[in-house]
Amino acid sequence: MKPLLRNLAEMTAHRDHLRLEVSVLSTLLLQGRDTRVRALEMFTHDGETWLRPRSWSEGGSIVTSEYEALADPAAFALPELPELAKCIASGGKSVGRVEEHGHTLWMPVWLGERAHACLEITQPKAFTRHQRDVIAGVYLVYQNYQSLLDYSERDALTGLLNRKTFDEQFARQPGVESWDARQDPEVPGQWLAVVDIDHFKLVNDRFGHLYGDEVLILVANRLRSLFRSQDRIFRFGGEEFVVLLRSATLAQARMALERLRSTIEAHEFPQIGHITVSIGFAAAQGGAPVEVIGRADQALYFAKEHGRNQVRHYEDLVASASLGQKVAHDEVELF
Ligand code: GH3
Ligand code: MG
Ligand code: MG
Repeated sequence: MKPLLRNLAEMTAHRDHLRLEVSVLSTLLLQGRDTRVRALEMFTHDGETWLRPRSWSEGGSIVTSEYEALADPAAFALPELPELAKCIASGGKSVGRVEEHGHTLWMPVWLGERAHACLEITQPKAFTRHQRDVIAGVYLVYQNYQSLLDYSERDALTGLLNRKTFDEQFARQPGVESWDARQDPEVPGQWLAVVDIDHFKLVNDRFGHLYGDEVLILVANRLRSLFRSQDRIFRFGGEEFVVLLRSATLAQARMALERLRSTIEAHEFPQIGHITVSIGFAAAQGGAPVEVIGRADQALYFAKEHGRNQVRHYEDLVASASLGQKVAHDEVELF
């Protein structure tokens, strides 16, 4: 098989976005000996669009960044690449820049209406017609395959991540093994929250399933707008959502969840009026995903038992012996 075809076959064998990206860059790198490639991740911070190199070519192979988006010192604001900024604003597929020492081609990667990454390819000489055709082909295969992959990872009703992708995202949190929640409350860590709508069955019973679905979509939208781009939000089925909060201190996590609770409480849902949510959260390390979820679930259960519409923290409940002896010793049966 020709190297390009072999690389295309390899590209579409991946079910992981980062590996797929690395594979795409390796394929583009076949364009020439002096070709350099990068994949720039796009994220928003304080309402501005930022980019940072997530994977790039180095000595003939592809390496990936060790940083999380916000902490990356190589990150820069989109206006620093005015051609690209213009291309993205108009929903374009590619744009180039010609300089004395090199020719650059940028190709934004779109998911629906949003560009979430950009491929960059640079070489000393101008791109030939043949090169442009090959690059455009690889880009299209990547774009289509990525949309399929993304579709399989999302819940059809709300567009949030589905449960299938949870374990992988949980494992990818930086520092999950090394960080200890009890060491220092000022040190940012990872938190897992379970959010459950209160008396949701009543919404269905009173207004019908379609209205129930509408509430789920609105709550999902609130979740999306209230958390940061590095956090991960899942619909775990029914009216239960899970949020992975990354790089947050205990106080920040508590504040973000409290803000979610109060925002939902204050919102007037069309026809339905007001609803509330109960939230349980726990430190997202020191255990397998199922154990951490179990802890957050116990805090949620406590919130439900004590009046609903509140945020409860597992480690606090354990410290104050509120969960009872059995639970405090982590011997609770999860199922
Ligand atoms: P609690 O405050 O204790 O959480 O009470 P609840 O009524 O919210 O809890 P329960 O788990 O008894 O009910 C959940 C309901 O969610 C039952 C089911 O009809 C409804 N439900 C689950 N999935 C969907 C969905 O996709 N759409 C709609 N409309 N309803 C759903
Ligand atoms: Mg409920
Ligand atoms: Mg429930």
